[in-house]
Formats: sequence, C-alpha cells, structure tokens
Amino acid sequence: MPEFSKRSLEILRQPLEDGYIRLSRVHGTYCFPADFLLLAAMNPCPCGYYPDMNRCTCSPAEIGGYLKRISQPLLDRIDLCAEAAPISYQALSSPSEQEGSAQIRQRVEKAVRIQKERYEGTTLCFNADLTPRGIEQYCEVSSQGRELLGKAYDRLKISARAYHRILKVARTIADLEESRMIQREHLEEAIGYRSLDKKYWR
Ligand SMILES: [Zn+2]
Repeated sequence: MPEFSKRSLEILRQPLEDGYIRLSRVHGTYCFPADFLLLAAMNPCPCGYYPDMNRCTCSPAEIGGYLKRISQPLLDRIDLCAEAAPISYQALSSPSEQEGSAQIRQRVEKAVRIQKERYEGTTLCFNADLTPRGIEQYCEVSSQGRELLGKAYDRLKISARAYHRILKVARTIADLEESRMIQREHLEEAIGYRSLDKKYWR
C-alpha cells in the first residue's frame, strides 16, 4: 500500500466512507457508484523487518516516513487490521488443525442469513451499511461490553468514526457466533483489529 502516492491513497477515503465517488469537472459534477471491498497489504518499513531491530536495516526516519504515507483518517476507515507475524519452523513443519475453508464458508453464510433476516424490509443489507442511528437500534451491547467500550474509547483515543466501525464489526462477530447481543469478547476482538495503528503509528 505505501508504494502508491499519498494523494492516490487519500482519494480512497470518500468511496470507502460513502460508497460513491464524486468528480468535479468544468462541465459539472459527476457521481459514480464505488462500493467496494478494500484488501491491502504493506510492510512495516522499507526493508520489511521492523520491529525486529536485529534484522531491520532502516533508519528511524525511514520507518517513520514509510508509515506516514498511510494517514490516520485512512486507517480509521479500515475495519480489520491484522499482523502477519513470521511463522516458526515448528509451526510450518507440524500438521495444522485449522478450520477448513468449507467450514468457514458455512459460518459466513449463516452470518449473512442472520443479517438478511434482521434487515428485511429496510434498505440495509449488511451490518456495514448501518448508520449511527441504525447502530443504536441494532447493536445492543451487554453491560460488560459497554464498560469495556467506555474504557477503550478513553484509553485508545478512538475517533467517533472508529467507534461506530468497532460496533459494526462487533455486530458481525456476534452474528458469526449467533449471539443476539454484542458481548464483551466480541468487542474485544473488534477493538483488537484496530490496535495495530497504536503499535506502529504512535
Ligand atoms: Zn526496515
């Protein structure tokens, strides 16, 4: 992702938020649908080894400059950030007991069905489509979850946008577990997907 120019990356902000792109030209303003799923990857520094300082050959200025190409407002619009940590020889060479694609597909289809039922008769399709008002209506949070959210809001200094996005991701995690109410652990997982920026960008 940081190999693109900062300007190109920043242009993604509007369609990521609104699902359309507006172009202003001499003869008028044009609006095009641009509702998409963004999947992006990046290294933590130009050489790729940061924060392993035994292997990283970049200067602090190079690392800072590289990460700065991805702005906080753009990061705010990315719901799931996950780190791909190096795999140990042991993990590579031992048989894995991971869930297979077919099983994952079943869980995803179930969560899609739950959302279809929930939003029947509305203009919404998925949790991602929820407006702040819709979040109030459809994202019921347990008292322990609310407590966690309050603490995380202050501690992680999350923006209002990120707060709403955390609730929508937690709604989906709860749907995957067929839980009507959003529980503390669903929020913990959703907040975890947003904590990478605190590790690298601050
Ligand atoms: Zn490096």
